[in-house]
Amino acid sequence: MNARNSIVVVLALLIAAPLVAGTISVDTSFYTAPADKTLPLVAGDHAKNVILLIGDGMGYCQVEATQYTAVGPEGRLHMQTLPVTGMMSTWSADRLITDSAASGTAMATGYKTDNRRIGTLPNGQKPVSILEAAEQRGLATGLVATSTITHATPAAFAAHQPSRYDQPAIAVDMAASGVDVVLGSGYKYWQPAPDGVREDGLDLLQQLQNDGYRLARTGDEMMALDRMPAIGLYGPDALDETPDEPSIADLTRKAIELLSQDDDGFFLMVEGSQIDWEAHSNEEDELVRRALLFDLAVAEAIEFAKQDGNTLVIITADHETGGMTLTKGNRDGSEVVAQFSSTGHTAGSMPVFAYGPGALAFTGLYENSDLAVKMARVLQISDFPRLHQNSDSSQTLSD
Ligand SMILES: [Zn+2]
Repeated sequence: MNARNSIVVVLALLIAAPLVAGTISVDTSFYTAPADKTLPLVAGDHAKNVILLIGDGMGYCQVEATQYTAVGPEGRLHMQTLPVTGMMSTWSADRLITDSAASGTAMATGYKTDNRRIGTLPNGQKPVSILEAAEQRGLATGLVATSTITHATPAAFAAHQPSRYDQPAIAVDMAASGVDVVLGSGYKYWQPAPDGVREDGLDLLQQLQNDGYRLARTGDEMMALDRMPAIGLYGPDALDETPDEPSIADLTRKAIELLSQDDDGFFLMVEGSQIDWEAHSNEEDELVRRALLFDLAVAEAIEFAKQDGNTLVIITADHETGGMTLTKGNRDGSEVVAQFSSTGHTAGSMPVFAYGPGALAFTGLYENSDLAVKMARVLQISDFPRLHQNSDSSQTLSD
């Protein structure tokens, strides 16, 4: 290759593939690593409580980048101590590469659907979610997220709308869903002006208070909640996850404290929402910080499950974001270079980590829509719709 051709090739590569790379450098002093590298297997096929924690956009490279940075290659994050691991597909009904709405709907309802859809199938049917089915069986239910609570992933568990972008409509569904504990942010979708953006004049937070919900608007108020039903929305938009805000670990601990007051058991979904957003922005430092905060919420779930002995903890992701790879790094986990190939989502299966009675059902490779079915079996919800269909990717409900 002569010099001019080389220049042309280099220019073409620069234009075609603007790969973003950076050395991970983030203060991890707020993080406490687990004491044990591996939790024991727990006997039994059924559990009283299920806690599902979803790291949005958290592929296994994101997990390992976080691990290397915080505890080195020989250390473990809390999520890596769970004794059972599996792999879960992420493709949606209409795309190889899913969005959070379709993947959330699959995990929540047992049915794959088209991207953007929340708890609705391509034909408009509205399959019951694992949260709703748990509630119908008398369990307490909860949702925690660091994004607006009406964002795609939590929405998929307690709303049925054709578009994830209609957050005011999702708030109406969520308010009517009967979910007992809602902790996160994004009150603007629940109220009209001046505090909110609702154009229909509905004040859903007032309505919920009239129905007996406790309302919390500050971190202190959220931490002081002592009974269900309760809703705590910190700000008008997503949390920034700064130290002056309640952390996702705080919110998870509080949700578990409230939900575990129900003797019938509970189902809780917790989402570390912004791991995805940092990956979209190719911000490796912030991505690792957000993933560590999420892992501290995992630690809360594990701690409760250890004490309780009848709780299944599951950690997974809805999809990978950023096409992240690690291309350089020292043996001790320092100077790790993260490279991104995309500012969007990528195809591929996601890891599933499980601990507690019923965990062994989560080993192997399966569809994201099977996650809901497996959780229904563990909770002994025998009338969960997908349980009675054979096809993994069935897109309609039988009657
Ligand atoms: Zn995303």
